[in-house]
Amino acid sequence: MFNIFKECADISEKDLFLHHNVILKIATSHSQDWHPPNHISFYDHAKDSDRVLSAQDQKRHLKAFDVVRFESPHTEQVLYPSHCVKNTWGAALHDDVKIVENAFFVEKGTDVLVDSYSGFANNDGLKKSKLESMLRSERINCVITCGLAYDICVMYTARDAAKLGFLTTVIKDCSSGLSDEKIEEANQIFAENNIAVNTESEAELIMTSKKIPLEWISAVISQKLGIK
Ligand SMILES: [Zn+2]
Repeated sequence: MFNIFKECADISEKDLFLHHNVILKIATSHSQDWHPPNHISFYDHAKDSDRVLSAQDQKRHLKAFDVVRFESPHTEQVLYPSHCVKNTWGAALHDDVKIVENAFFVEKGTDVLVDSYSGFANNDGLKKSKLESMLRSERINCVITCGLAYDICVMYTARDAAKLGFLTTVIKDCSSGLSDEKIEEANQIFAENNIAVNTESEAELIMTSKKIPLEWISAVISQKLGIK
């Protein structure tokens, strides 16, 4: 990484942003799990007749956070307690979340037999949400994300954003994770993908062009040099 910066030492931060056509325009999108009541991620529905568990998992007494394999649909799945059932209080945004004018809303995990951690696409990668097209149509190049859970939905959303070429930041003090081990894994994934981890106050500086995360500069250089 040091060599990359050395090679590009003649590129100032300002040039990098001009080169990358960063437009200082902000759009807000709220993504919500919006599950049907018999969603495949709910452990008490794992043995429903519209899905087939592996023979090994069929014999188990299943509980929350078990990892199982379904033969149909062909997928591995972490099981959770019933959560975020559409049109119930569990799927609603918390009252303290500030909803800005013209905010977008992305509902995910809406298919009975497919889970969706990322705000961009289902876990099988086959169905995209409207998030990417919304960001592209608004000509937005940067994604600043936070919420629940840091090590699951926030992590997958940030990883997809970075893979799609968005300069990406996760706000750690506006997020909460599920397990220390997974939070550590998420931080590793962020580091590997030039995803910045910032505080709320740092995010404010980013949004007012007073700070550029080092990871974003690294991402732009990597894109410029064609390094994955
Ligand atoms: Zn869910």
